Amino acid sequence: MAATGVQLIPSPDEIMQILKRTGAFREGHFVYPNGKHTAHYFQMPLAFRYYDTARVLAVALSRKFRIERDIASQLPKVAIISPSSGGIPVAFGVRDALNAEQIYWAEQENGQRSFRQYVNQGEINPCIIVDDIIRSGNAIAQTVELVGKLGAPITGCGAIVRFSAAPDAVEGVPIKSLVEYDEKFYESAADCPLCKQGTPEEHVRF
Ligand SMILES: [Zn+2]
Repeated sequence: MAATGVQLIPSPDEIMQILKRTGAFREGHFVYPNGKHTAHYFQMPLAFRYYDTARVLAVALSRKFRIERDIASQLPKVAIISPSSGGIPVAFGVRDALNAEQIYWAEQENGQRSFRQYVNQGEINPCIIVDDIIRSGNAIAQTVELVGKLGAPITGCGAIVRFSAAPDAVEGVPIKSLVEYDEKFYESAADCPLCKQGTPEEHVRF
């Protein structure tokens, strides 16, 4: 099959079909730890548990980076950065697809996001931050701060899914996504139509 570049990026509808099929996109009645209610939930590791779907998603996201001349010209000397454990399979997939030289991931330790000890030593390449999903953008913002401490510039940022309410850029770098999802949150049970209908609720951990 001839490589046709950009056209090989699946459409948002095709990505959503993958997420539905693997159970990563769930419909129902969900309550977040912050008390907000929604009719949908994304549990992205369910899509990344399968080799085939993980590869399709990561390769598609990598193409969004490769078409940026500033990024393409730096390859393979870039670092792929994951803000959290959920982003690690995305980061490895994108790293493979781009032949990127380095990978780093942050973890939550005592409520603080940080890289493993000693990883700030040695030369850090220009960074592309990738995550599975960007809901509020807080994890990305904290990761931008961490990367700043490493002293490396950020040349790219992206996720499989980005909620429309989240920022669409970090430090002037646009955030790429395969799906932009307009999630409707209800502040509490009192203004949740699903509660009024008596739809059984599921509590999600984050
Ligand atoms: Zn509700």
